[in-house]
Amino acid sequence: MNLILETEEHTALRTAVAALGRRHGRGCDPEALWQEAAKLGYLGVNLPEEHGGGGGGIAELSIVLEELGAAGCPLLMMIVSPAICGTVIARFGTEDQRRAWLPGLADGSRTMAFGITEPDAGSNSHRITTTARRDADGRADGGWILTGRKVFISGVDIADATLVVGRTEDARTGKLKPCLFIVPRDAPGFTRSRIDMELHAHEKQFELVLDDVRLPADALVGEEDAGLLQLFAGLNPERIMTAAFAVGMGRYALDQAIAYARERQVWQTPIGAHQAIAHPLAQAHIELELARLMMQKAAALYDAGDDIAAGEAANMAKYAAGEACVKAVDQAVHTLGGNGLTREYGLASLVTAARVSRIAPVSREMILNYVSHQTLGLPKSY
Ligand SMILES: Cc1cc2nc3c(=O)[nH]c(=O)nc-3n(C[C@H](O)[C@H](O)[C@H](O)COP(=O)(O)OP(=O)(O)OC[C@H]3O[C@@H](n4cnc5c(N)ncnc54)[C@H](O)[C@@H]3O)c2cc1C
Repeated sequence: MNLILETEEHTALRTAVAALGRRHGRGCDPEALWQEAAKLGYLGVNLPEEHGGGGGGIAELSIVLEELGAAGCPLLMMIVSPAICGTVIARFGTEDQRRAWLPGLADGSRTMAFGITEPDAGSNSHRITTTARRDADGRADGGWILTGRKVFISGVDIADATLVVGRTEDARTGKLKPCLFIVPRDAPGFTRSRIDMELHAHEKQFELVLDDVRLPADALVGEEDAGLLQLFAGLNPERIMTAAFAVGMGRYALDQAIAYARERQVWQTPIGAHQAIAHPLAQAHIELELARLMMQKAAALYDAGDDIAAGEAANMAKYAAGEACVKAVDQAVHTLGGNGLTREYGLASLVTAARVSRIAPVSREMILNYVSHQTLGLPKSY
């Protein structure tokens, strides 16, 4: 029993999801897993009950993703669809938007991608130039015309819509402010081209072009003036969920390495008896546990409604988990010797997959910048 960090319900959820993960396992059909996880209520565990969700929080959703990852079958779209888009719509969407989207996101029948990254802005999201302007003569009810480009957006082909971060001009000050728009997959003027990534994953990445995409007035999520607040409400869950993704993947790799090191014998003892093999695995285990601890703290703060404290903890958790995952995977591959690079053992492809959690959704360096400036009060170099 784990009374302090997780409730009995959390532990039961962990056990149940781990069993689902074992039934599917590495190399499984992600569509089938998505559907089954949804049917069991796991994908919408954080969404409000009145809209078909489980009424839990990011703590519960991160347990689901971590355990699926630890079984070798993480679902990347959980980070964007229920965690970012579901949270933003549940917290800030209009009643109509909630009714239109949340039941589908919760039961897995609908999926939403999330697009903020732009080719010329990269880590500097203040520089995004995707712009929304009022559609003066397009529609009687008013509406929007969205123009811009996005890059590295995951799962746009399988998602029913993409939640696109754009900017509108403040009528009073003339300043640009962020706004979120729901863009249906087949909206005229919304085109995508696949980026050829060195990643073995079901979810593909796309470059998007929004060429005067006409959207109805209710494509704008929530309030035009609350854009920044809404954006942060979605980005903290994204970081916590990326930490869960990384901890899960690190645990999976480590488990493979431990099993191998117990069996493989080339001298008098299994290779796991050599401290050169054992200690780095022990270190990887400790670092994954520490990262998970910070992830639990971030999720608890977020679910308690403390967005500011959750922001710092979510960044630190994402950093720690990304680093722990990269190290665990690297050590796991090394532990298997030549087998670490064979298709049969399937660990080598995790080397690139693990790096994703160091780069996205915010890079290691940008988190170190955040902690330097926000936590330590050091001056900025940029
Ligand atoms: C597999 C994958 C899936 C993704 N899915 C999505 C998605 O669904 N939606 C979405 O919106 N985006 C997505 N992204 C994009 C991701 O969020 C970006 O790649 C990430 O934010 C980094 O931006 P960039 O690639 O432009 O790197 P850049 O910003 O060009 O950074 C390059 C390097 O410079 C460093 N750097 C930049 N500025 C500084 C600084 N001030 N100080 C120190 N170092 C600095 C960075 O840390 C990094 O190492 C995905 C990316 C990947 C790889």
